[in-house]
Amino acid sequence: MAISTISLLLIAMHLSFVASQSKDINSGTSRNLKEGIQEVHCSRERSRAAWKIIEEYLTPFVEKENYQFSSRCRLHPSSDLFRDQEEHKTHVDINEWRCGYCKKIFRAEKYLDQHFDNRHYNLLNVSDGKCLADLCGALHCDYVINSQFHKAKCNPAAASRNRHLCEDLANNCFPVNEGPSATRLHEFFLHQFCDAHTCSRGVKPFARGGKKHSSILYLAASVLILMFVPIFYLIVYLTRRGKKGITLLKRVARPGRKPKPS
Ligand SMILES: [Zn+2]
Repeated sequence: MAISTISLLLIAMHLSFVASQSKDINSGTSRNLKEGIQEVHCSRERSRAAWKIIEEYLTPFVEKENYQFSSRCRLHPSSDLFRDQEEHKTHVDINEWRCGYCKKIFRAEKYLDQHFDNRHYNLLNVSDGKCLADLCGALHCDYVINSQFHKAKCNPAAASRNRHLCEDLANNCFPVNEGPSATRLHEFFLHQFCDAHTCSRGVKPFARGGKKHSSILYLAASVLILMFVPIFYLIVYLTRRGKKGITLLKRVARPGRKPKPS
């Protein structure tokens, strides 16, 4: 009787121990999950900057070559953790940003970002560990985001690290053994992004220009030409008229007496 009571007690103790353990594991898991979401350490802002750089300084050239990224390339659109959320943003008006999932309206993009973080974090697929912001070093995000960065002192170790990351991207995304387009894009990528990872002065990223850049230049050039053409003709017209006036005056002055020396 005593033995069975002791064994019952032991079983009860064991069960409660197991229960408490599993509770710990459960709470640990949920904590981890929650921390996992916050622990992504993938900056939305920097991911967005990287995306914009790719869109502006790489995509036009990749499209021109009709080239498709392989899935192992980290520049592939699926590498952007925030892509789906970013595509569910609507900039309705200057102070109006709409969430595409629940149609809520926000005054500024940052509030919509916070809303995504709080309400729609479950839509982020954090399991892949993909983060476009991780490529920021290679893609010169700081150069684009922070105007002070241009004046900052160059760190040779960081420059060489970023150069390695950059060359890895070129090798993985545009393998030279995959044909002429891949080879051309590989070369292009090195010039456009990797060459500028140096502390020697005068080498700037995006040497080959980009989509927006070229369109702005084109627009500026057209406006300048449109402005200068009429001014040029006006100057030509005025100088011709002035010359005519002078010769007419000379002709008028010649038959009479000599013009007084001034
Ligand atoms: Zn929403």
